[in-house]
Amino acid sequence: MPLLLYLIVFSGILVFLLYSAIVFYSEGAKRALVITLLIASAVLAMLVLPVLIPWNEHRSVIILITMGALVVVFILNPKQNGLSWPPLQQTDERTTMFSRKELAPESEAHQQYYSHHPQHLQADKLFRSKPGLLHAQAAFYHPFGFRAAEAAFSVVKTLVPLVQGRPSGEPTHFSPSENTRFVINWTKKLGALEAGIAPMKPYHFYSHKGRGAQYGERINNNHPYGIAFTVEMAHQFLNSAPHTPIVMESAQQYLDAGSIAIQLAVFIRSCGYEATAHIDGNYEVVCPLVAKDAGLGELGRMGLLMTPRQGPRVRIAVVTTNMPLIPNKPFHDPTLTHFCRICKKCAACCPGQAIPSDHPTPLNGRIRWQINQEACYTYWCLSGTDCGRCMQVCPFSHPDNLLHNLIRFAIRHSMLFRLAAAKLDDLFYGAKPAAKSLPEWLPQKNRTIGLSDKGQ
Ligand code: SF4
Ligand code: SF4
Repeated sequence: MPLLLYLIVFSGILVFLLYSAIVFYSEGAKRALVITLLIASAVLAMLVLPVLIPWNEHRSVIILITMGALVVVFILNPKQNGLSWPPLQQTDERTTMFSRKELAPESEAHQQYYSHHPQHLQADKLFRSKPGLLHAQAAFYHPFGFRAAEAAFSVVKTLVPLVQGRPSGEPTHFSPSENTRFVINWTKKLGALEAGIAPMKPYHFYSHKGRGAQYGERINNNHPYGIAFTVEMAHQFLNSAPHTPIVMESAQQYLDAGSIAIQLAVFIRSCGYEATAHIDGNYEVVCPLVAKDAGLGELGRMGLLMTPRQGPRVRIAVVTTNMPLIPNKPFHDPTLTHFCRICKKCAACCPGQAIPSDHPTPLNGRIRWQINQEACYTYWCLSGTDCGRCMQVCPFSHPDNLLHNLIRFAIRHSMLFRLAAAKLDDLFYGAKPAAKSLPEWLPQKNRTIGLSDKGQ
């Protein structure tokens, strides 16, 4: 009987490894494939061992007990402290890089901003000395890729007139749970990956507008609910970050998220309620904060939303409204941030050296990580893309399939696995995995000026 159990256990492990090898092959992850096949060979040897050498039941029992003990240690999952939540202060959108980049030198807004924030002047001179996002002189300029991204951003701009509007007619009188059920399911039907409702708090909103015609105006949005949703960034495009495909995919997902948000806002207004869409270039809210409180994910080391199945490989949009809705519970999973404390891969691979590699620190009265937004944006202006290298290398970004979902599950449910997983990811994919080559259909004319592909 112990021998039969031994054979069943090792056969199961072998089948799983062969399945993993197929997944790695389909992903083009050659290094992971070779390592998996080597481990599978060792397991196969264990499987045939009872045939090759004199075997007795004691051996099976000892091996099975050892494996059982490992499983017990494996499932230990003491709770670790997460980061402080919620934030204590509102963010002024004018201090973000997306606002600062729009300050024309010599303009009144430029003078005013830097007289209030002289500490930003030097850092901003540096990014202004680089070619700029989607610029033809940028390092990863691609004549098709940059124009494709630019086209998507241009279409996003055409959505702006629909961001706000008046409700039409009398409000519909469905119950909050009926409203919620419809809104969540319809948002997903329109293309969102996940959607949730957050009860809006002051820290979700920027204090002042930092972009567009309302620059400098105080934000007075009193909508009680925020519908946050994610759209997926294609893994194939992320793989070649920080090269051109990343900005093509980012722009496309900003457009997809924007059109879903606009459609949802127009729908809600037609039901007689107020609704504002928060889309690329037109935010009154800090989307990752709303998404966390809508139950969609946790904030990780790189400052992005970490979702359970796609990690940071998502874009977010939000619709705020006074339609009666039922909020989700905020997402709170300290195991994700505990893994970030161990992993640090994004920090090690960031070409702009913008991600902290130490433990979270007190900032504005809260314990958290904060990336160096100036260093990150300066790299964008050098590369011409929105980089995304941190997203690409994150162990949570691997494709949404059984193998990687099992690994993500194990990371969240086993402290031992968390301790091992970051090293295993380095072993299988490389500590600084090289950017994958561009899709075949994109002409291979990527100019580089002094930046190597490997390790960036
Ligand atoms: S790469 Fe590692 S440290 Fe960075 S966000 Fe992902 S899990 Fe956290
Ligand atoms: S986008 Fe690039 S430069 Fe910015 S934090 Fe991520 S890896 Fe660093």
